[in-house]
Amino acid sequence: MIRPTKGKTPRRPAPKKPTNNQKDPVGVYCRVRPLGADDEECCVEVISSTTIQLHAPDGLKANRNGEFKETQYSFKKVFGIKTTQRELFEDVAKPLVDDLIHCKNGLLFTYGVTGSGKTHTMTGSPGQGGLLPRSLDMIFNSIGPYQAKRFVFKPDEKNGMEVQNQVDALLERQKRESQQSVPKTPSSRQKVDPEFADMISPEDACKCEGVDEDSSYSVFVSYIEIYNNYIYDLLEEAPFDPIKPKAPQSKILREDQNHNMYVAGCTELEVKSTEEAFEVFWRGQKKRRIANTQLNRESSRSHSVFIIKLAQAPLDADGDNVLQDKNQVNVSQLCLVDLAGSERTSRTRAEGSRLREAGNINQSLMTLRTCIEVLRENQMCGTNKMVPYRDSKVTHLFKNYFDGEGKVRMVVCVNPKADDYEETMLVMRFAEMTQEVEVARPVDRPICGFAAGRRQRNQAFKEELSRRLEERGGPVDGEPPSTLSQLQNLPPVPSCEISDPSDDLTLPRVIECMEKRMKMRQMFTEEYNKAANMLKSMLQDLDGKLLSKENFLHEQRGKLGEKDKMIQNQKNEIDRLEKKSKMLEYKIDILQKTTNIYEEDKRSLQQELDSREHRLQRELSEKKRMEARLHGMVSDEKLRWQKECERRVNAKELEMQNKLWVKDEKLKQLKAIVTETKTDSRPEKPQRPSREKDRVPAKRSASPSPVPTPVYTPSKVFRPAPLSPTTSSVSVASCISEWEQRVPQADRQGSPSPPQNRSRAQGLPNSLSRRRGRCWAKDCEVPDQPGDLEENSYRTTQPVRPMHRRSHSAGAERWVDHKPSTNVELDTVMQPNVPKAIKVTAPSEKALSKCDKYMLTHQEVASDGEIQTKLIKGDVIKTRGGGQAVQFTDIETLKQETPVAPSRKRRSSETGPNQDDKDGDWTDVETRCSVAVEMRAGSNLGPGYQHHGYPKRRKP
Ligand code: ADP
Ligand code: MG
Repeated sequence: MIRPTKGKTPRRPAPKKPTNNQKDPVGVYCRVRPLGADDEECCVEVISSTTIQLHAPDGLKANRNGEFKETQYSFKKVFGIKTTQRELFEDVAKPLVDDLIHCKNGLLFTYGVTGSGKTHTMTGSPGQGGLLPRSLDMIFNSIGPYQAKRFVFKPDEKNGMEVQNQVDALLERQKRESQQSVPKTPSSRQKVDPEFADMISPEDACKCEGVDEDSSYSVFVSYIEIYNNYIYDLLEEAPFDPIKPKAPQSKILREDQNHNMYVAGCTELEVKSTEEAFEVFWRGQKKRRIANTQLNRESSRSHSVFIIKLAQAPLDADGDNVLQDKNQVNVSQLCLVDLAGSERTSRTRAEGSRLREAGNINQSLMTLRTCIEVLRENQMCGTNKMVPYRDSKVTHLFKNYFDGEGKVRMVVCVNPKADDYEETMLVMRFAEMTQEVEVARPVDRPICGFAAGRRQRNQAFKEELSRRLEERGGPVDGEPPSTLSQLQNLPPVPSCEISDPSDDLTLPRVIECMEKRMKMRQMFTEEYNKAANMLKSMLQDLDGKLLSKENFLHEQRGKLGEKDKMIQNQKNEIDRLEKKSKMLEYKIDILQKTTNIYEEDKRSLQQELDSREHRLQRELSEKKRMEARLHGMVSDEKLRWQKECERRVNAKELEMQNKLWVKDEKLKQLKAIVTETKTDSRPEKPQRPSREKDRVPAKRSASPSPVPTPVYTPSKVFRPAPLSPTTSSVSVASCISEWEQRVPQADRQGSPSPPQNRSRAQGLPNSLSRRRGRCWAKDCEVPDQPGDLEENSYRTTQPVRPMHRRSHSAGAERWVDHKPSTNVELDTVMQPNVPKAIKVTAPSEKALSKCDKYMLTHQEVASDGEIQTKLIKGDVIKTRGGGQAVQFTDIETLKQETPVAPSRKRRSSETGPNQDDKDGDWTDVETRCSVAVEMRAGSNLGPGYQHHGYPKRRKP
């Protein structure tokens, strides 16, 4: 039944080329053939299922000085010498055939040195069919029951495929059958050409799973040879002229609307079985061989390309026929390429034009290598270099594969013989590099939107129908007659033969029948149109749905892409954070280490500190012990010295008492003399006082006062004998001076000096003090006032002659009150009140001449530290020369005492009692001063003080 296409389904937009990011590396397999009978040395060793090792042959090693060592090459899989063709097929070609049936392209080529087994691998030999016959067999085993009738699919000369209507297909079939008297397609395997009969054994038959049963398939094969960069169609039917063979015309490459490359005008033969296909191949092979022989070419230098195209289109909704829609036709192809032998020009020993050919052969292989290299570089480095596919026909033809139109696989064939070593190594390097190229993974193509299982439903329906028809022999009563049954029940056309001119019956009967048929035809047409319209609307419906689904799919893909991007971003973020955390961990590690070091330091320092503290403690306790010992020693010493001092003081006291006693005695004697003189009242030679030395010192019974009592001189002065200085007569002053000379040093320290000059006076050397004492005694001069009086006294070297006294009438005495300006006002209650006295601060001759009495108010520091005032009185005597002399007669002492003041001597130091005790040792001011200023060691004063003074010990 032929259904004319009425109207067109709205053209769908061409399905967008699905983008795919997944890539697969070029699958490179290695096959090692056994050594030939003549070959001895083997330079290839399979060391694992993926690695082979090349050994440099002995000769080469010697020549190249060991430069060539063992080199290893890894591949997806390595097939050793024992690998069968079937095993190889299972691994290498089967997946490609599978892809082919599932609308994906594939490219498989064999590569290697001539004689390495490329042809053996691809084509095989009788009983050992190669990849090509096995692939064909698998294809037909898989699609066998679903093949479309011949000529339903028709190549459109532009690498596309059309679906012919049934009528045209039928017509072509009839035409083909009429041309071929003998059917080419053998009905069974027994009838095949014995030359390749055993290429495919039935027991090796394998099949692809998951073939779409609702599609119709057709296989087309083409076979081309690329020789010297020319493409020849090996299946072209050219009238063969054995006498003058015509050189075959080369073909050109073109790009179809999908940018796929194809050989323009190349014969594509539809084949319906393995045998037919292989027969076609064999024909091409034969032709190639003949051409090579005729044109004197070497087949090893050409590339042979066998292209298997599989066209498939969905069945219509009824599951009856192939859907008449070119857009629904899918064409996939599997290219099986037996490349030319890879050898260098030198090895071919070609000359002249043959050499050029060889160069070209190598050129195309070189281009293949270059293309692979550039591809790899682009992919690995992200560059965008142009791949020089166009430089050779082979690469140009397969450019789409490398650009992602299908799977690419390569079988590298290796002949382990030593002769091939160097070339084999080059082949290996190229093959290994090829693996690094990645090719986009082909995606599943969209299939039509009809319900699945149409073919089976249709089959079942047909079976059911024929069964019913057989049963009933006509349309079932009561049921509307089906179109088919109605067609069968058309009223038979009556016989149209008119034998009689007056036959009026035949024609009207025919007319009636025709009219009936016409009516029925109209009815069928209407029915058909209705059904067609319905179908059309259904199709439109489905189209719409499909479109929306595609859009939906597209949207989802977009979303998926976004999600992918998000995931990628997050992954990057995670990576970044991980890096950061690693960094931080590293830092923490370092800090931890630093802390450990510091802690270690701290511990050691602590230990040191502890030990030092310990030492300090020890030293402190040692010091304390020493101190205690020293204290003990000091107190011992102090005690000893105290005792010593006491002893000495006692001794001194005794001595002094003795002296005093002597003096008392003398004074008594003197008094006695004076009273005697008075009573005599006449000048008499003064009696010489008894000398001390003459007297035996007697011990005094009563202890006299230690302070000498002031000698009271009566108004009458005894006069020493004039002009006789050597006389032994003694004046009171001389007595006093003598006494003073004998007083202990301690008493003399308080020699007459103003209080403010005390320290200076104390610092005076003893010799000076003594001299002054003498001066005082000799001339009775005021020591501090070396005025005229003194000078005068010295000038008058003669001793003063006793003069007459002034009249001593009551109240007639006049005094010179000599108070030196340096004296201190002491606020004493008892003040000398002398009427009509002439007050002077320095003795003046004028004042002395007017007066007959003289009084000197003299201040000095007493032994207890208090200032005591002495009133030294004397008589003014006129000297012979007209001057005046003062004869001292009396000393009054005024002394202040603080009621709380201790009777002891004042200390200059205010330190504690301990110190006081020690100070008891030093009694003289000089020593005390030195001690006060120069600190003693161990004093708690500042560190600036240094002990450099030694206490001055009093002479015992
Ligand atoms: P190429 O096509 O690479 O030049 P061939 O396929 O023509 O090499 O092989 C050369 C010879 O080596 C042939 O006679 C072939 O039968 C033999 N041969 C190649 N490979 C094998 C193999 N794996 N096992 C047995 N014989 C092989
Ligand atoms: Mg070959």
